[in-house]
Amino acid sequence: MTGDFVTSPEPILRVSNLTKTYSKRSWFSPGGPPKAALNGISFNLSERETLAFVGPSGAGKSTLVRCIAGRERPDSGDIWFAGEDRRAIQLIPQDPGTSLNPRLTALQVVSEPGAGRRVPELLSMVGLPVESSGAKVTAFSGGQRSRLALARALACDPRILILDESLASLDLPVQAQMVNLLLDLQDRLGLAYILIAHDLGIAGHFADRIAVIDEGRIVEEGPPVELFQRPQHPRTRSLIACAPGGIPC
Ligand code: ADP
Repeated sequence: MTGDFVTSPEPILRVSNLTKTYSKRSWFSPGGPPKAALNGISFNLSERETLAFVGPSGAGKSTLVRCIAGRERPDSGDIWFAGEDRRAIQLIPQDPGTSLNPRLTALQVVSEPGAGRRVPELLSMVGLPVESSGAKVTAFSGGQRSRLALARALACDPRILILDESLASLDLPVQAQMVNLLLDLQDRLGLAYILIAHDLGIAGHFADRIAVIDEGRIVEEGPPVELFQRPQHPRTRSLIACAPGGIPC
C-alpha cells in the first residue's frame, strides 16, 4: 500500500520512457500515418500496490500491459522487474471466462502452467470447491470462470497480476466479490496489481493509485480521492463525468 511516510517500499517494477508505434497498416488503422500507441510511458510499481490505468478506448492501455507481460516488444524504453522470471508477471485477459478452453476440466485449466498437485490448494484459494476440479469449464458460471482464470494465473507464483478489463464483463455483485477476493489474495500473497479500466468507478474502489492515460501518455496520476476531488487534466474531468456508476466519494 502507499502512504508510508517513513520509508516508501522499493519498486518491484520500473517502466521508463516506453514507446511503441505500430508501423504496419492493419484493420486497427486502415489509413493515415502510423500513430504512436505508447508515447513515453514511465511509472514504478511497489509490492502490494494496486495501480490502475484508466483511459478511453485506443489510449494504449492494452499495448502497455502486453509490453509489460512480455507479449509485445516496445520500440524503446526500459522495463525492469525485480523477479527474474517473466512468468511472475501474469496477465488475466479481457473476459477471462471466455478465454478458457471449454473442452478442458478445471483441473486441466489450472494445472496447465505446471501446478499439478497444487490444484486443490489453488481452487480453494480462489473460493471454488475442490470437488469441482473434474467439471468442464462450461459447467462454471461467468464469475466462477473468472476465479478459474485467477487460479490458473496463481499457479505461476506471480508477483504482479495484470487485470486487463478482466472484471468489466461481470455483473456488479460478482465484480464486488472478485474485488474482495483479489484484495484478500493481495494481503496474503503480497501481490501487486495493474488494473486496466475505461471506467474510473471500479478503479476508484480498488486502486491505491490511478494513472490517466490518453494518446499513449500518462496525463495525470495520483491517489483516487485526490484525482476525483482535484482533477487537473481535461481527460480526467471527462472520465469523471462519464463514469457510469459514479465515482466513490
Ligand atoms: P486501449 O487498450 O487503450 O484501447 P490499445 O493499446 O488497444 O488501446 O491501442 C492503442 C493504439 O494502438 C490504437 O490506436 C490502436 O488502433 C493501435 N493498435 C493496437 N494494437 C495494434 C496492432 N496490433 N496493430 C496496429 N495497431 C494497433
